[in-house]
Amino acid sequence: MGKFNPAQIQVVSQAVEIAEDVTANYFKISTAQWKHVRYDIRTLAELSTEEITESAFAQITRYSRKPGQTVPGGRPYDFFKICLQDHNIMAAVERDEPLELFPLAIYVVTHELVHVVRFCKFLQRFDVDHLERQEEESRVHTITQQALGALRLSRLDYVLGAYQNYQFMEKFRDQVSSS
Ligand SMILES: [Zn+2]
Repeated sequence: MGKFNPAQIQVVSQAVEIAEDVTANYFKISTAQWKHVRYDIRTLAELSTEEITESAFAQITRYSRKPGQTVPGGRPYDFFKICLQDHNIMAAVERDEPLELFPLAIYVVTHELVHVVRFCKFLQRFDVDHLERQEEESRVHTITQQALGALRLSRLDYVLGAYQNYQFMEKFRDQVSSS
C-alpha cells in the first residue's frame, strides 16, 4: 500500500535532517536542548493500523501518562510520534507535476516539528477545539514558511506557494499510557 521505496526513504531521511536543523534554528534550540524535544518520526512501513490515515500527510500521536501518575525518577512527560503517511505524500507528488518529494518532505516534516516544539514548550495545548486548532494550524503554516524562507532549494518555492494554507497536513491522536 504505497510505501516509500528505498530510494524515497533516503530522500525523506535527508529531508528530516534539514527539517530538524531548520526548526531548531527557528526556535533557537541548541543541539543539547533539542534532545529534550521528545519525538520520533516513522514512515508507513513502521506504522500500526491506527497510526495510518487516508486523509493527511502525517498523523501525530501524543503518548501521555494518566493525570496524577508518578514517574520514577522524573516528571511525567509527553512523547510525540510523527507518523508520515507515505501513500498520501506520494499521491500528491504523482498528481502535481511540479511537486517533488524532497522539498515536500522538508515542508511536511518541518511543519510537524513546529507543532511538536510548540506542544513541548507549552506554547500550544494538545487538546483544543476545532476553532483553536484552525488558528494554530494557520500559525504553524506561517512559522513553517518563515523557517524555510531562507533555504535555497530547487522546487521549494513551489511547495511554499502551493501548500501555504493546506488543510490536510496532519491528524492528531491521543494515547494515554497506563503503564
Ligand atoms: Zn499542522
